[in-house]
Amino acid sequence: MLKILNSLLDLLFPKICNGCGGVLTAHEQIICTTCRHQATLAGFHITKADTLKNIFYGRVAIQEATALLKFQKKGITQTLLHNLKYKKQEEISAFLGYWLGAELSEIPAYKNIDVVVGVPLHKDKQKARGYNQVTGFGKAIAEVLDIVYLEDVLVKVSKTDSQVFKTRGKRIQDNQEFTLINSAKIKDKHILLVDDIVTTGATLESCAVLLQQAENVKISIATMAISL
Ligand SMILES: [Zn+2]
Repeated sequence: MLKILNSLLDLLFPKICNGCGGVLTAHEQIICTTCRHQATLAGFHITKADTLKNIFYGRVAIQEATALLKFQKKGITQTLLHNLKYKKQEEISAFLGYWLGAELSEIPAYKNIDVVVGVPLHKDKQKARGYNQVTGFGKAIAEVLDIVYLEDVLVKVSKTDSQVFKTRGKRIQDNQEFTLINSAKIKDKHILLVDDIVTTGATLESCAVLLQQAENVKISIATMAISL
């Protein structure tokens, strides 16, 4: 009976590919196989390229840094991230997390990570969106790596990303965008800091600098996508 009901629901409300808008088959989730193959991978954990890590060189110490996908205008990654952030397609977050998590679990350099921490949203923004688009991603990675996801370590205190318009020196001086709380929870930990998309690295840098205020921490970074 349930099976018939599900097939009926699928027929009435077919699941749509978040890449091309086509109807997904029963074996496909979030995006169709064609779109999945067309998505441009960044995969620095596999290629061993320091492309993302180098963004933070001289700014904050980072152990490993990787991104799953490359962001291209009008590409599948852009559609995926747009649907995740603005079209209530929250499940895209976990989908990308399981995808990247499965790959990271095979890489020795990522095996000594202890906790996953996501870049937080301001509470008003999170309320308006209904979710933080990074949480599902971070939780899925943590689940695959069999470690914990900590939601109560970083808090976003300012509503805007005004730091983008300041010079880097000035910004670090008055880093008011985030605050660190419960720093004892990350003492002696290797943290995987996760975000949706990295462009200049300014947001991740602000978070990493704060996390490093806790005692004896190491930080690695993983994002859904990188915009080069
Ligand atoms: Zn598709």
